[in-house]
Amino acid sequence: MRGLELFLSLMLMLAAHTACAGWLHEDADIMGTRITVELFHDDTAVARQGVDAVMAEMRRIDSDMSPWIETSELARLNRDAATRPVIVSDELFKLIRTSLHFSDLTHGAFDITFASVGFLYDYRKGVRPDDRQRQQATELINYHNLLLDEDSHSIAYGKPGVRIDLGGIAKGHAVDRCIALLQAIGIKQALVTAGGDSRMIGDRWGGRPWNIGVRDPRDEKKLVAVIPLENVAVSTSGDYQRYFEENGVRYHHIINPTSGDSARGMHSATIIGPDATTTDALSTSVFVLGVEQGLALVNRLPDIDAILVDAKGQLHYSDGLLPAKNPANNVKPPAPHPQP
Ligand code: ADP
Ligand code: MG
Repeated sequence: MRGLELFLSLMLMLAAHTACAGWLHEDADIMGTRITVELFHDDTAVARQGVDAVMAEMRRIDSDMSPWIETSELARLNRDAATRPVIVSDELFKLIRTSLHFSDLTHGAFDITFASVGFLYDYRKGVRPDDRQRQQATELINYHNLLLDEDSHSIAYGKPGVRIDLGGIAKGHAVDRCIALLQAIGIKQALVTAGGDSRMIGDRWGGRPWNIGVRDPRDEKKLVAVIPLENVAVSTSGDYQRYFEENGVRYHHIINPTSGDSARGMHSATIIGPDATTTDALSTSVFVLGVEQGLALVNRLPDIDAILVDAKGQLHYSDGLLPAKNPANNVKPPAPHPQP
């Protein structure tokens, strides 16, 4: 189960199926995660075309950007860019440039060169580097080690051993690409989700907003907040998606670039914003920054809001979601169950 659970909208959508032809809903496992698309078009053939386009686009981006697929453009970059500049596609070049923008914005909390140490972890097998390996590899984490040439669209790595991984931004990018494809064929109501990253356009059947539930990071059956939303993106990063425990310490897939160890300041960070590339990068960033610095960043950014669950299970909202500061906020009260 993913951080951003869509229980409510899915339940309502299933009910809507019988009542309203033209709505389609499909799931698939792509990019190592669950892809969900729900959309409406009054011509069912166009709706079908939309669902197929989303799944094809997700597969394409996975085969271009997965660091684990040897033939991907990203794997080629990691193999060769320390020895010579590698010319990459416009799409990959721009996404790496966008990643560097978020590195600047977060003073390095978001850093795709985290992978220089990240590849030493295997969360499924419970493998992690020892302290010496971790410290050595952590010295290679620095987004300034990526040298981008705007004219040739080539990328070079400043040091041998540097690696990148777009796991903190590529799913959001993929969701945005899919929404653009759907809009291009005339679809005006849709929800596309890739793991913890979602974006919705228009409203749901019956003119209602999409209800997005933020799950309890320590209980996949519980929600800590329900947010009615339209025309926005939402991403959640959590410490419960890929992890193992050793001597009571949780090792999970969000890495603090200064230590090379898992970031442990919170349990989950949910970000609401205009597009999924932004919310994906910021959910990973805010998770690394922790509650105080994370909220300070979000409150400085226009059109961005956050719901954080700290390391004690307490909820924190950005200013835009607090009734006292913004009477128009639309977050429903947290689900009526006690926090741990
Ligand atoms: P997911 O939806 O896969 O759980 P998140 O948006 O929560 O993804 O981001 C976690 C992923 O981001 C990790 O699996 C890793 O690929 C990447 N990542 C981890 N730490 C960082 C970091 N400090 N900066 C950028 N990307 C990171
Ligand atoms: Mg992210």
